[in-house]
This record gives sequence, C-alpha cells and structure tokens, in this order.
Amino acid sequence: MTLAATPILLTPGPLTTSDRTRQAMLRDWGSWDTDFNQITARLRERILRIVHGEGTHECVPLQGSGTFSVEAAIGTIVPRDGHVLVPNNGAYCQRIAKICRVLGRKLTTLDYTEAQRVEPADVDRVLAADPTITHVALVHCETGTGVLNPLHEVAQVVAKHGRGLIVDAMSSFGAIDIDARTTPFDAVIAASGKCLEGVPGMGFVIAKRSTLERCEGNCHSLSMDLYDQWTYMQRTTQWRFTPPTHVVAALDAALTQYFEEGGLAVRGGRYARNCAALVDGLAALGLRTFLDASVQAPIIVTFHAPDDPNYDFKTFYQEVKKRGYILYPGKLTQVETFRVGCIGHFGEAGIPGAVAAIADTLEAMGVARVSAEETA
Ligand SMILES: *Cc1c(COP(=O)(O)O)cnc(C)c1O
Repeated sequence: MTLAATPILLTPGPLTTSDRTRQAMLRDWGSWDTDFNQITARLRERILRIVHGEGTHECVPLQGSGTFSVEAAIGTIVPRDGHVLVPNNGAYCQRIAKICRVLGRKLTTLDYTEAQRVEPADVDRVLAADPTITHVALVHCETGTGVLNPLHEVAQVVAKHGRGLIVDAMSSFGAIDIDARTTPFDAVIAASGKCLEGVPGMGFVIAKRSTLERCEGNCHSLSMDLYDQWTYMQRTTQWRFTPPTHVVAALDAALTQYFEEGGLAVRGGRYARNCAALVDGLAALGLRTFLDASVQAPIIVTFHAPDDPNYDFKTFYQEVKKRGYILYPGKLTQVETFRVGCIGHFGEAGIPGAVAAIADTLEAMGVARVSAEETA
C-alpha cells in the first residue's frame, strides 16, 4: 500500500502519526550509545513538564504496551498487603481490577453503569467506611465508552483520606489537563501511542518521587519492577533491558511537534473540535451517541449502531475502510455500538471526510433506519 493510500486511523491508539514522527524511525540506535541515552533523558524531562512534575515527580519509561505500565505501577506502588479500590465504569477499570486479582492485591470495586461517571462523593463514602483501603486506582478517560472521570475531585477526596492514588491516564495524557502541583497523585500512567501521537511500544509512569523511593521490594516481577527500572536508569542513564529504540526516537520527535504545536491546550483544543464535528456530523445522519454530552471526553465517541437489518459492523467497517478511514468496534456487551476516535495526526478535514465516508457507506449498504428513536 502506498503512503498516500494509508487510511486515517480513527482509533484511540495506535493512531495516525505524522510523516516527521515516522521518519524519526529510519535509523538504528545502540542502547549504550550516549546520543540515544540523551534522547531518553530528554523524553523523560519533557513528559514531566507536561504535568508540571519537575522536581517532585519522576518519569519512568517501560517497554511494552500501556497495560504493561499499568500492571507495573500497581505491582510496584501497592505493597503486597495493600488494598486497592477501583471505581468501575468500564472495560479499562475492569482491566485494572483483573491486574489486582492476578497480582494478588486485595481488591474492592465501586460499580457504575458504563454510561455513568465516577462520583467523588461515592469514593469519599467508601474510603470513610473502609480504612483498610490503601490505594484508589482511577481511569481518567474510560476509553471503553469515552467517559471522562473527575480526576481532580477524586484526587482531593483520596488525599483527604491519606490514601494513595494511581491514575490510568492512557487516553487523556497530553490532551486533558493533569497538574501535579494541584492534583495530588502517586502515579499517572500513559503511553507513546496515544495523545502524544507517537507510535505504540512503550509506556511511562509519572510517579511522585517520595512514593517511588519507598517501593523497593514491592514488585512481584523483575521486568515489571518500576523501582528497579528507575534506579537503574538514574545510575546508568540506560534502560534496564533492551529499549524499544525506534519507538523512543519516534516519541521524541512527536514530543518536539507537541510543544511546537502549542502543548496541551492546543492539542486538547484540536481534539475537542474533532469531537464536536464528529458528534454533529453523525447526528445530522441520525446517529446517536451512547453517552450524555455532560460525561463525554473529547477522545473517543461511542455511537449506537443503526437499527436496520441491512446493518452489520463488519461490512460497515470494510466499506468505510475502502473510503479511507479505520473505525473501532464497540466494547459494550448490552447494546450494539461502534466507536470513533478523535485523536491523532490528521488535519481539520479528517473528521468531515470520515462523516462523508460513513454517510456514503450507509447509503451503499441500504441502511435507511439509522436511529431507533425518531429524530427531530
Ligand atoms: C489504551 C489504553 C490502555 C492500554 O492499552 P494497551 O492495549 O495495553 O496499550 C489502558 N488504559 C486505557 C484507558 C487505554 O485507553
């Protein structure tokens, strides 16, 4: 497939990257090389800057997909006799709960429907009732549906009770504000191939230094031990074990473009415009969002599937792909949905183009009845 024919990924990671980011991968690096290790140091420092964590926090990168870093953060920061509260409103919250079970960390969940956001008052009540809970693990943007959880308010509650907070900010980091100076947390986790618009292959954990210093020996695993990864990197400037060199170089290039673009406010603003254009464009076709606008994050949108016997997701996906756009299946078990990501390196024409491709596809498939409800 030629570069020009590469479809636009409307998926929340991997996502569409810029030519400049992809070109940064066209050379090889030795893992001992000082030039490469300077890239690692620069990358860690720039990531810290995004959350204003310089001086108080540490950025510890880790090989692997984002989940590896979530598992490493839980395994390293929660002591073996710790107790984790997971406010649960979707698939990625459930993944954290599963990590706790696999790692043998005591787990309590606070369950919501997938259309609801986490309520700080509920977290307050559960923490007050159970002093054995040592940590709360919150998903910032629940990518399973697109719900934005109130991180800052939950962090205030957790701090008030003197417990630890671990945040899966995978799909929000770099686009939705997280300020370490005003939002207390022990760890924020994200990855290369999301809103920073790098390629997938590494995650990173931004941990409070005073927390990290107390984590020696917590981890059940050698390769997942963030304390060990951190201290080795501080001592040697190198990654412990083979680094994903091309992914690191691409993320460094992506970060340069991130700051050139204007940083978080500009990146987040671009995604918010994408999201609004998407929701409005598909609403004009009669397609309804699964979430209420009040809880919708500008990262990924879940739509109800058309209520028509001529619709099936596989054909829909293939036909939209032929027209140049890659969609994402729904992740809900109860209702039939599909998802469209708002993030990635594509211009302002990207979303209108996708809306046109979807309109054309529905017409070609003979899907007439788009919504179960009459649209005004
Ligand atoms: C993408 C994502 C992850 C990590 O998923 P991987 O497939 O391991 O990269 C974790 N949490 C959230 C909220 C995500 O969006």
